[in-house]
Amino acid sequence: MSAEVMAAALTWTQEEARLREELAACYRLFDWLGWTELIFNHITLRLPQAADEAASYLINPFGLHYAEVTANNLVAIDLAGQRRDADAGDVNRAGFVIHSAIHAARPDAHCIMHVHTTAGCAVSCKEQGLRHDNFYSAMLVDDVGYHDYQGVTTRSEEQPHLVASLGQRNHLVLRHHGLLVVGPDLPTTFMRLWVMQRACEVQLAADAGAGPNREIPREVLQGVPASRVTTDASGARKVYEAMLRRAGLTTGPHPHTGLSTSSPPR
Ligand SMILES: [Zn+2]
Repeated sequence: MSAEVMAAALTWTQEEARLREELAACYRLFDWLGWTELIFNHITLRLPQAADEAASYLINPFGLHYAEVTANNLVAIDLAGQRRDADAGDVNRAGFVIHSAIHAARPDAHCIMHVHTTAGCAVSCKEQGLRHDNFYSAMLVDDVGYHDYQGVTTRSEEQPHLVASLGQRNHLVLRHHGLLVVGPDLPTTFMRLWVMQRACEVQLAADAGAGPNREIPREVLQGVPASRVTTDASGARKVYEAMLRRAGLTTGPHPHTGLSTSSPPR
């Protein structure tokens, strides 16, 4: 942890400092994977709260690329969009509208990821949406909601519609827009997004190939969720930590590279 982060961390609880490091690493990992959209899109993580405290979460400051996000510059905001620290960065309105609505409505959604990957955006434009006829999409059967496009998501009137579209599911196709996933922790949410992203990529590739697609029988699909990787928190953490090592990122100084999420981006 850098001296800058250590100084700021004096005002954070140990748990908040850990969550900031973990979330900053995730932003860097998304950059490494190419899951970025200029300075837009968001990954948010709920902060622990005392019984007398309002719910709040960490979000990226508006104006920075994911590669520039650090533990120190993440912004803590409440569900009304108010920044906890007056000297923290600004927050993008669309990010607040989408993420605050879902954090408020789904207490189990500690982490929310939203992306505009090409594959996700492309599938979101299709009338059929995501079909459950490939290895990855089979894992998502009965767990994908759809939200109709209502323009750029900056109006608070859209929030109840977003919440209703997601329901109790963990994956949401924002039609004509992109993908959104929720989860109980960051690694599980990452795993869910990975599966959804791969499902979209494979569907597009299959649709571009000659010949009809073969359906997976319903009785087989119904057996898949019980064993799917998207609900295995310990497996997801193994995957996530391996990806951080592969990208040269850790939630602390890396034993080999010395790089951490507090380090300047490479
Ligand atoms: Zn978006």
